[in-house]
Amino acid sequence: METKKTLILEADAQGFSAAGEIIRRGGLVVFPTETVYGLGANALDAGACAKIFQAKGRPQDNPLIVHTAEVFGLARLASVTPRAAAIIKAFMPGPLSLVLPKNQDIPAAVTAGLPTVGLRVPSDPAAYRFLKAAGVPVAAPSANVSGKPSPTSFAMARAAMEGRADAIIRGGDSRIGLESTIVRITESGLEILRPGGVSEEDLRAVAKDCLVRGLASPLPGEAPPAPGMKYAHYKPRAEVLLFPTGTWNPKMIGCAGKTGVLTLGEKAAPLSGHVLVREMKSVEEYARRLYAEFFVFDSLGCDRILAECPPEEGLGRAVANRLLKASGGRFF
Ligand code: AMP
Ligand code: MG
Repeated sequence: METKKTLILEADAQGFSAAGEIIRRGGLVVFPTETVYGLGANALDAGACAKIFQAKGRPQDNPLIVHTAEVFGLARLASVTPRAAAIIKAFMPGPLSLVLPKNQDIPAAVTAGLPTVGLRVPSDPAAYRFLKAAGVPVAAPSANVSGKPSPTSFAMARAAMEGRADAIIRGGDSRIGLESTIVRITESGLEILRPGGVSEEDLRAVAKDCLVRGLASPLPGEAPPAPGMKYAHYKPRAEVLLFPTGTWNPKMIGCAGKTGVLTLGEKAAPLSGHVLVREMKSVEEYARRLYAEFFVFDSLGCDRILAECPPEEGLGRAVANRLLKASGGRFF
């Protein structure tokens, strides 16, 4: 791939204005959001969106989520049914993407030929200022090379996208740290295609009378409901091995190579230069720090990461989902 000169833009009026200009000219801008950093292009420009797939090495059949600054921008891009309107009202702006029947303005390059489009309105103030400055809807997947963990800080975004994007906005750390919850609406109710920043419990509390189906899995022989499901995801360089919550045993560390350990709550661990232990006080902290800790462990040359798989409730479901993908489902 050809290497680009990447501008670093400050998160100020001048920086956002320059970023908006780059988007309108068909370029790629990395921008912060509350979930993870995104790699954005003008969603109405098929040529600009094609560059996203090239920069990430993303499979062509994996659609992009379209971002707008404000909720009222959504109705121009998709058919908003009354049920969709209720979800939008409850969770947007915020860490939720809603899959809806797309309007004709959205090029096939964005949706990988699907008749539906994933839509999101971030709540992060810097994302808002960037999207306002762009003045067009912005198609953006996470700003990582395909298959790798998503960046949740400026340093991670820069390490992933310098030379690939036209500009990177120097934002802060992502407040949530995991990707959005993807929801689609079917005749029988709501279906979660990817667990994320909004939990199944949050959705049930709002959907009430309507059925909420947990993470949908493709039936044998069926196309996955979210094309991204079939690909490897979130994998650091180090090998990831999981252990079920509450089953910590320091003997798991063994003596082979340098090991990073992620635990939920305090654990007695051996003091050794070959073992780096990071204790997460809550699942929220686990979500926020997961990819950043992967990045640090990789930077420090860890061979292996041992990670506690949290209970499958609330935000724990999203953390467990990313850990299962990162490890290829391998438990100690
Ligand atoms: P990323 O932006 O990298 O977090 O990936 C976006 C995810 O959204 C991918 O896993 C896609 O499969 C999913 N997605 C985007 N648009 C749609 C859609 N129209 N229908 C189903 N899934 C979608
Ligand atoms: Mg991604």
